This record gives sequence, structure tokens and C-alpha cells, in this order.
Amino acid sequence: PLPVLAIVGRPNVGKSTLVNRILGRREAVVEDTPGVTRDRVSYPAEWAGRDFMLVDTGGWEADVLGIDASVAQQAEVAINLADAVIFVVDSTVGATATDERVVRLLRQSGKPVVLCANKVDSFKAEADATALWSLGLGEPYPVSALHGRGTGDLLDAAMKAL
Ligand code: GDP
Ligand code: MG
Repeated sequence: PLPVLAIVGRPNVGKSTLVNRILGRREAVVEDTPGVTRDRVSYPAEWAGRDFMLVDTGGWEADVLGIDASVAQQAEVAINLADAVIFVVDSTVGATATDERVVRLLRQSGKPVVLCANKVDSFKAEADATALWSLGLGEPYPVSALHGRGTGDLLDAAMKAL
């Protein structure tokens, strides 16, 4: 079986946009507004000659548990099935309490994690990514999933972790 790379993070941080960027096509559903329930979806993917399954953990945001608990629950499921995780944070928002909760789950899992500081659309915005060192997950990779900025370095790091 192929190794599994899961994309985890709060609603609207850009997980599905990143998945589409990695796949090189628009296959994962990107929502401008959070709240649509969808199933977890996995896609066969390739980077630098490595084949793996890419899991987009979107779509549990409308869960009855409420956003915080449902993000944590879904993250836990995805983390358990993953060999490595890309944890996506919206660098324009910064680390939230829900992000901190996911960080605790990631730590407990012991799985390798690469921190994606998404929505760094310009060089000027890179300071926002630097602030995410505070999460204690190591180097935040500044990425614009929307424009493709920084995704190569992020994936190189993810392949080392996988
Ligand atoms: P998900 O809920 O985490 O899967 O987030 P989506 O991929 O559906 O994206 C949520 C919104 O953020 C959409 O409007 C995207 O176009 C936008 N978005 C995603 N990545 C970026 C980025 O790198 N920069 C900016 N400016 N917007 C982004
Ligand atoms: Mg999504």
C-alpha cells in the first residue's frame, strides 16, 4: 500500500486548494464559505518520483459537535491513518485555540508533521509565517496554495517525513 500524507487544519485555511495544487488539477472541492459537509477524500499523488495517497480532510465543519470539537475529531481520524501530516494554518489569521488543540493531537500521535503557513501570497507576508514558530512544530513553510508559491519546498519536506 502507498504511504498516506494527510492534509489537516481548520475550515477555510486552504487545505483543498493545496490538494488541488499538489495534484495539478482542480479535484478537491474549494469552498469560499465554510460549512459544507463532505467526506474525507483520498487521491493518488506523486512528487519528486514518489507515489503516495493524499488525504484531504475537509468538510466536517458543519458537524453537530461544533467547529472546535469537530475539527479535532476529524483531525484525529486523519492523523491516525496517516504516515505523515501536513498541518495547514492560515498565516493571515495566525494560530487559534483550535489550531493549538490540533497541535496537541499531532504531538500525542508522534507522527511526522510539516507545518504549512498558508496564504503567504507575497514576500511581504512571510513575517506572518515566521510567527507560527510559536506552535512548536518546527519550521513553518510559507506557502500560497492559491498561487503555488512555496509548495515545492513544502512537498520536499513532506517527502522527507513520509
Ligand atoms: P479548506 O476549507 O481548508 O479546504 O479551504 P479551501 O481550500 O476550500 O479554501 C478556502 C478559501 O481560502 C478559498 O476562498 C480559497 O480560494 C482561499 N485560499 C486558499 N489558499 C489560499 C492562499 O494561498 N491565498 C489566499 N489569498 N487565499 C487562499
Ligand atoms: Mg476543503
